[in-house]
Amino acid sequence: MNKTTHLLLTTLLGMTLASTALAGKTRNVVLIISDGLRPEEMFTGVEEDLLNEKNGGNWTSEKELRARYWDPDPKVRRMLLFPFIWNTIATKGQLLGNAQLGSQAQVANGLAFSYPGYNEMSSGMPDPRINSNEFGPNPNQTVFEWLSHQPGFAGKVEIFGTWNTFHDIFNESRSHLPIRAGVNLVDATDHSPRGQLLEELYKTTTLLEDKDPPDSFLTVSVLDHLKTHRPRVMFVGYGDTDSWAHQGRYDLVVDTAHHFDAAVAALWNRMQSIPEYKDKTTFILTADHGRGHGLVEWKEHGVEESGSENIWIAIIGPDTPPLGERQNVASVTQSQLAATIAALLGEDYRKAEPRAAAPLLDVLAAP
Ligand SMILES: [Zn+2]
Repeated sequence: MNKTTHLLLTTLLGMTLASTALAGKTRNVVLIISDGLRPEEMFTGVEEDLLNEKNGGNWTSEKELRARYWDPDPKVRRMLLFPFIWNTIATKGQLLGNAQLGSQAQVANGLAFSYPGYNEMSSGMPDPRINSNEFGPNPNQTVFEWLSHQPGFAGKVEIFGTWNTFHDIFNESRSHLPIRAGVNLVDATDHSPRGQLLEELYKTTTLLEDKDPPDSFLTVSVLDHLKTHRPRVMFVGYGDTDSWAHQGRYDLVVDTAHHFDAAVAALWNRMQSIPEYKDKTTFILTADHGRGHGLVEWKEHGVEESGSENIWIAIIGPDTPPLGERQNVASVTQSQLAATIAALLGEDYRKAEPRAAAPLLDVLAAP
């Protein structure tokens, strides 16, 4: 072996080691959002002051809400609200964002509403140009679009969500990503009895903003899709937690949050029953923004409502050490999620987009 060959081999070996160090065991990643679900509820369960008609609205009586979700101990309370997240993710994975324990997770976009948040988490950086939910097609490439062009990912990256605006956020006409969101969430080409029933229900359901079906349509659509497809990367965006909060309906926010937890459990359990996904799949759960505090500001979010910048991140998968609820750990931002998704799959998103924030893997690995 001459010197040049030796150097070449050493370099190649170094590159292989570097990329396998990142690759780990994860072959598939699912990013799941509960829009505007606050860290308050995630880490301390339901807020007592909002469980009544005056501050939170009620179809469900305060007595019944308390029977479902109340306990004086916040650790029990949060488990009543999110049994899968606190029984399974918190024991086999990690949660970031409990500021009271010295773990901070925030949005970096300074606006704390939806489009800026979804752009930040999926492109890897905030973009001050995106200052409205009606911004239109996203000028930024997202990690989903980028991954779909990497070897092994063609046709394997898919977007699902209740919010029709995801067609813009993931720039459908440029990215050519398969996007099933809002008006086309339900698969109109499925003519099976089940598909026809779902279509019938969709057509006869009152849609939010005339375009967005309720969360339940999303869970069924994704689970059905997995019967015939094996995406390696999925975005799954739930919207009802934000919608009910804007309506001032805390009783429905907490029921919806509870349903979100069950939907994540159903998706996790289904995917763990499929060989291509079992023990090779990482779930990342988060919110696009937080909300305000107190008896009124919890309903809204943005620059006016302080606290809206705070989010939470939950992660479970074969490359995430089971460190549970993290304490006294480095502060993280939503913008780190894009590179994290790529790094878990052994891909370096920052090589293509150097402005993207660093992946979270160091934080997740640190005891
Ligand atoms: Zn909102």
